[in-house]
Amino acid sequence: MSEKPILSVRNLKTYFDVTKGIFTKKQIVKAVDDVSFDVMPHTTFGLVGESGCGKTTLGRTIVKIYDPVEGSITFEGTDIAQLKGKELKQYRKDVQMIFQDPYASLNPRMTVGEIIKEPMIIHGIYNTDQEREDRVVELLKTVGLKPDHIRRYPAEFSGGQRQRIGIARALAVDPKFIVCDEPISALDVSIQAQVVNLLEQIQHDLGLSYLFIAHDLSMVKHISDTIGVMYLGHMVESGPANDIYHRPLHPYTAALLSAIPIPDPNVAKAKGRIVLEGEIPSPINPPAGCPFSTRCPKATERCKSERPQPIQVGTRLVACHLYEK
Ligand code: SF4
Repeated sequence: MSEKPILSVRNLKTYFDVTKGIFTKKQIVKAVDDVSFDVMPHTTFGLVGESGCGKTTLGRTIVKIYDPVEGSITFEGTDIAQLKGKELKQYRKDVQMIFQDPYASLNPRMTVGEIIKEPMIIHGIYNTDQEREDRVVELLKTVGLKPDHIRRYPAEFSGGQRQRIGIARALAVDPKFIVCDEPISALDVSIQAQVVNLLEQIQHDLGLSYLFIAHDLSMVKHISDTIGVMYLGHMVESGPANDIYHRPLHPYTAALLSAIPIPDPNVAKAKGRIVLEGEIPSPINPPAGCPFSTRCPKATERCKSERPQPIQVGTRLVACHLYEK
């Protein structure tokens, strides 16, 4: 029997009403618009796209910070919209989030020990404070910090160390799935690889599944089994990480890949760079046809009026008229 996804997202739409004043026309931001994908157990789904493409909103909808207006999220076979009481609390324990900004996401007035213990107290894990304290020490070691860091405050740590504290806090309740929302974007390049390696090691040791959100395709490729590319609230291409990285199909994926710096200037020149003209359109007033049509170097008249639906092309799902037969 083939393995089932741990998380399935189907036709998900998360919209926000941003209308100002009662006499103005309704303005709706379509942050996530008809997105579908699966995450298999013990794997990483990398989600990429420029800032404002809806990837963080998608992550926050999965952890139930936002409610979708349509579509479904199924976790271990259960539609999470149906969860209430104990089951909802269990979901909030099973699915954790690591935030982008390690400076803003930790309470500066709490010690590291208090920060990591807090979710254990909320979820009623362990009976005594000593048990929780022992677990904090264990978690500090897991994320590469020292046991005596337990009594220190976030301000005493570097950005990379703070992100390790954020990871320890997420692990405190023994989750099954972690939404990693740009966990390395705010860190120095030299520290980014260390945090990615730590997340990979933890996944290997604990059998976790990740949704890893980033705007840097090269880093996502390193950690991901599957990659999804988002543009203006839509998933424009998804499939195995290697295939997408080495042979992008969607013109937007190709442009994102060509923007990755190549250390060898000769190789970089030979490869060329696709420079996208113009800005990302407003999600309040997206193009009528393909969301990428205002910037796509391969756009045709049809692209301006007809929205492409995702179709299977080999190992990939691609939403582009170029691949329709
Ligand atoms: Fe470009 Fe048209 Fe494909 Fe959209 S559908 S990505 S505009 S070629």
